[in-house]
This record gives sequence, C-alpha cells and structure tokens, in this order.
Amino acid sequence: MLRIAIQNKGRLNEESVELLNGGGVEFDNAKRKYLVKSRTFPAEVLYLRDDDIPGVVASGAAQLGIVGLNEVTEKGFDVKVVKKLGFGYCRLCLAIPKNEVYEGLNYFAGKRIATSYPNILRRFFADKNIPVEISEISGSVEITPSAGMADAIFDIVSSGGTLVSNGLKEVETVLESEAVLISNNELTAEQNEELDELLFRIESECISRGKKYLLMNIPSASLDKAIEILPAMRSPTVMPLAAEGWCSLHSVVDAAQLWDKIKKLKEIGAEGILVLNLDKIIP
Ligand code: ATP
Ligand code: ZN
Repeated sequence: MLRIAIQNKGRLNEESVELLNGGGVEFDNAKRKYLVKSRTFPAEVLYLRDDDIPGVVASGAAQLGIVGLNEVTEKGFDVKVVKKLGFGYCRLCLAIPKNEVYEGLNYFAGKRIATSYPNILRRFFADKNIPVEISEISGSVEITPSAGMADAIFDIVSSGGTLVSNGLKEVETVLESEAVLISNNELTAEQNEELDELLFRIESECISRGKKYLLMNIPSASLDKAIEILPAMRSPTVMPLAAEGWCSLHSVVDAAQLWDKIKKLKEIGAEGILVLNLDKIIP
C-alpha cells in the first residue's frame, strides 16, 4: 500500500488528481476529506498543504508526494525526486525596482531581500560569497520594495505580470521548478513494486498529455515530404487508399505544433484531415 500526499487545494491540486486518475488511481475527490482510499489501486491519497508534503514524505507518514520542486529544495528534507511531472511550471527569481541599473549579482551586496524561500536564497548567495540580508516573509513578497521593507525580492514567477504591476523587473533566475513526484527513501519491496507500476502508468499519462492523433489523405507523390513533417514514435502509419495515387497517413503530434503541421501538410496536398483526442500512449 502506498500513501500519496498531494496538495489539498491550490495550483497543483487539480493536475495532481488528474494525473493519478489518468494512471488508473481513482478515488473520491471530496474536498473535506483528509485521507481517501483508492478504489482501483493499492493506494491512499492524503490531502495536505504543499509546504507540509516534503516533510511528511521524509518522515514516512506518506511514501510518495506530488509537490513543486521549489518546496522540495527549500525544505531540504531527505527525499528522492522520482520524476518531473510536466506541470506547475514556475521559476524562483530575483527582482528589483524597475528603474534600478543592474550589472550583475554584486548589485545585491548588502541589500535587503524579502522572500518566502530563505534557505534557497541563503545557499545561492553563500556559494557566490556575496553578503545579503534576508528578510523572511510568508506572503505578498512583491509589495515589500514599494513599501520600503526591502530593496529586492526573491519570489516565484510564472508569467511576470505581478512583478510588472508592482514596478519590479526580474534580473536573475535561481531555480526552474515544476511539480515532481517524490518518494521516501525506505520503501518496502512491495511498495517499490507498486511504485514501479504507478510510474509506468504516470509515464504513459505524461507522454499522452498534449498530444493529438492526426489522420489524412495524402497524394502518394507527397509521402516523403509528409513523413518529414510528421516524425512519429517510430514512423507514421501509411495505408493505401482505393483511389489510385493516394494514401492514408496516421500520426501522433504535439498539440502545440498542430496548426503549424496542418499548414505544412495542406501545402503538400493533404486532404480530409482529422484530428482526434488521444487517451493513452503506452511507451
Ligand atoms: P498551500 O495552501 O498548499 O500552502 P500555496 O499558496 O503555498 O498553497 P500555491 O499558490 O497553490 O501554493 O502554489 C503551489 C505550487 O504551485 C508552488 O509551490 C509552485 O510549485 C507552483 N506554482 C506554479 N506557478 C506558480 C505561480 N505563478 N505562483 C505560485 N506558485 C506557482
Ligand atoms: Zn504553500
């Protein structure tokens, strides 16, 4: 039996639930429950604040956790990062008032920096031998410079919009983060087997996310060009059509590249293009 800690609400909750469900770990997502048993996999899901997840996994109260790499790094508990999960992307950045001239990290020498990530920040500047004053604050970090509480901030950024609206500019990225699956270091043999099975399923779920299945008719003369446009897992599937000189081509593409690929395929004569949603890709 594996106990998996996930965020109870907030930015990582929904995608953590979807990832587990997609991997066949189905459970009741009733918001008020704290611990729920999966109906379909030997696992229980424990809902926690994200800050508590690394510690709970390190202690063995849960065997696995889904949490941002930023939290894992900040907390510094002894856990294994088993897999990057491809969501919850953000970065931890240093930002300063936008009218300041910035010529490098020495700018920060002797400056007061507000952050909710004091450990990562302390380590970063200690490595560089630059003395800074770190002021720990648990929220609203971005308002501290204009409120005269700090000279600079070290905070999570995903789009940068919050920085701009607070008159700040990003000058250094210290950590690139995304949601990760972490595990306790001492799993039993049985838990390791369950983890392998879960990983296999999550892998398939991660691969199939953001992919589309594409079918089209293509003049046989354009086939080589079409195959160049569509590098599939091995190669696209090609089937002859009853109509002379035409074939049917099937392939999987990244959703992000879909329209670009379709444009190129139309240019070489593709017709009757169908785009289908994909459920699973088993690697
Ligand atoms: P909790 O109540 O669980 O402590 P929280 O307020 O600390 O919630 P959220 O804002 O839900 O946390 O963020 C959870 C995680 O989502 C972050 O630790 C980070 O890994 C990731 N994340 C992705 N984009 C952002 C962003 N723009 N701002 C904050 N966190 C982000
Ligand atoms: Zn938190």
